[in-house]
Amino acid sequence: MKVVKFGGSSLASGTQVEKVCHIVASDSERRIVIVSAPGKRFADDLKVTDMLISCAERALHGEDTSKLVDAIIERYQRIAEELKLSYTIIARITDDLNTLLKGDQSNPVAFTEALKASGEDNNAKLIAAVFQHKGMEASYVSPQEAGLLVSSDPGNAQALPEAYEQLSNLKNHAGIIVFPGFFGINKAGEVVTFSRSGSDITGSILANAVKADLYENFTDVDAVYTVNPHIVKNPKEIRELTYREMRELSYGGFSVFHDEALIPAFRAGIPVNVKNTNNPEAPGTRIVSARKNTNGPLVGIASDDGFCSIYVGKYLMNREVGFGRKILLILEDYGLSFEHVPSGIDDLTVIVRQDQMNDEIEATIVRRIKEELHADEIHVEHDQALIMLVGEGMRQEVGTAARASTALAKAGINIEMINQGSSETSMMFGVRENVEEKAVQALYEEFFAQ
Ligand code: ASP
Repeated sequence: MKVVKFGGSSLASGTQVEKVCHIVASDSERRIVIVSAPGKRFADDLKVTDMLISCAERALHGEDTSKLVDAIIERYQRIAEELKLSYTIIARITDDLNTLLKGDQSNPVAFTEALKASGEDNNAKLIAAVFQHKGMEASYVSPQEAGLLVSSDPGNAQALPEAYEQLSNLKNHAGIIVFPGFFGINKAGEVVTFSRSGSDITGSILANAVKADLYENFTDVDAVYTVNPHIVKNPKEIRELTYREMRELSYGGFSVFHDEALIPAFRAGIPVNVKNTNNPEAPGTRIVSARKNTNGPLVGIASDDGFCSIYVGKYLMNREVGFGRKILLILEDYGLSFEHVPSGIDDLTVIVRQDQMNDEIEATIVRRIKEELHADEIHVEHDQALIMLVGEGMRQEVGTAARASTALAKAGINIEMINQGSSETSMMFGVRENVEEKAVQALYEEFFAQ
């Protein structure tokens, strides 16, 4: 059995939905289909989820929502019209949206969550109707009836352990199941959404629950690329990579597959195949537990910017028990999470995402570290980028760091920081933001160009 998820751009128009029908109908093992809300049809288009969030905000401010509601319904209606569906389904969606808007606003978060999730929910009803119209045996199943129980963390729900047990019954369901992505139900029966782009997570949970043979994740690119195509033109595609490699790449800004979605698939050892709805014949990228062919030290290069580093120096720091913990406790007081902590004998650098701090917090942290920990030296560097070289093949090969640093040196790039964990799956270089692209290009040239 295959669990298949289609992203928003795969469901944005009638033409796209037609492709989805072909893909599902062409393989009888594709039995559970998870759908996103209709996404963008063109670059400047709006995602239905964003429209719904605006709609909830307007309603909560007592503003008129009618135009926005019409625009949302029109998105579904166009798909229905293109595929020659009867108006019944649109009437059902309209009804649902109006009922939600008339709902209880005393809890604004719950009100917003329900509206936000309706993008997926109504799209699942629509796609089930399309499948039926095409003569396929298909039905809409809601997270509530299937028992997708989640924690009460709005916008960041986690599946509860008991959800898997209940969801496992889906494998006995006759015909194709069309299931909305992006949300579950908490124990109080309220809708709670996953983080944004969370339909990937739903797919992975369901694949785990029914012990699927494969989880296919259909999106709008042929594969996961070795590097960001906005930085390097026509980069190579990745055919196969491990969950760990994918996790490291998505941390560094690869957004093809949601990083949280890897966990349920990984736990059940279910391979994930990222594929293109617009080119379903292409093999796509497989994410697996282990791969035999490492084919060179790296699978990909990721990079992300907007970091800053807090450097703390103190003579004999290595002998002072609890020094690192005390720094991190100060950061914790301001709600800062840290990304990395490379250290030397008498110094330690904490790398954090810059957007968590403002000038005031920064000045206070610096003052407290100086006063409370009697640091000799402390300074903060802004506008840093992190570049991650990722690949399990690094473990077998000698000289990856040498190759990388030589490539950066030849490009005239100063390395601000180097970090390699003992897992040897990734190696990280800190550089200034203004040379990030140049650095990535130099590294791509070194490791992938030939
Ligand atoms: N529609 C949701 C979002 O835009 C979830 C998803 O597409 O996976 O974030």
